[in-house]
Amino acid sequence: NRDRVLQSERLNVVSELAASVSHEMRNPLTVTSGFLQLLNKSKTITPEEKRYVEFSLLELNRAEKIISDYLSFAKPQSDNMVFSNMKEEAEYTMNIIMPFATTHKVEVHFSFSNTLNISYDKNQIQQGLINLYKNGIEAMKDKGGGLLTIHFSEKKQDILITIRDTGIGMTKEEISRLGKPYYSTKEEGTGLGMLMAYSAINKVKGNIEVESEKGKGTTFRITIPT
Ligand code: ADP
Ligand code: MG
Repeated sequence: NRDRVLQSERLNVVSELAASVSHEMRNPLTVTSGFLQLLNKSKTITPEEKRYVEFSLLELNRAEKIISDYLSFAKPQSDNMVFSNMKEEAEYTMNIIMPFATTHKVEVHFSFSNTLNISYDKNQIQQGLINLYKNGIEAMKDKGGGLLTIHFSEKKQDILITIRDTGIGMTKEEISRLGKPYYSTKEEGTGLGMLMAYSAINKVKGNIEVESEKGKGTTFRITIPT
């Protein structure tokens, strides 16, 4: 019980910190977005350059949404809510992560075979998934690469999502720290990714199981009831 109180106090601190960081981040994002929009109207811009600019604008927009989500950490905004099978989010997040995977010599195997619909907050699910994929890739980068397997499926009334990497793995002790705010073993880690992922899965009443072996890799198994 004391643990639970501690955990929720931590969540409050994170929300407050996130709110002020978000506030500070909004201005540079808005300025960058403004200049990109100007660039987009240039008469000498090539179609290919235009594509890059538009993608950057989409991503900036996305950053803005993520910030908004941190601000409303505990309360999903109704306009982000959808009733769907997550296929769009699964494919979108996969595409987003591809360049990062390629850079770190990580091969990605992706499969999607579920048709069950649930209500969820689009942005939070996207952010949660991206955090898990990113951690998987980062766990393999020091091994010179590896394989990230992402699998969406269904079993009876549950949606199952498996995210497996062939990275450095974790000890039981390390696993038990996952999701604690600011817990990070990385030089430039935020220690907020897993917290965000757990929070997003919690909100759809889902559950995350972790299986890991030091030096071998890690599997996250997410079960979401419909
Ligand atoms: P960050 O990635 O910024 O360090 P996270 O909250 O995303 O913060 O992750 C916290 C820590 O959990 C990581 O620093 C890492 O030690 C561990 N971790 C998370 N996912 C994995 C994984 N797939 N393989 C190995 N370690 C992991
Ligand atoms: Mg992370």
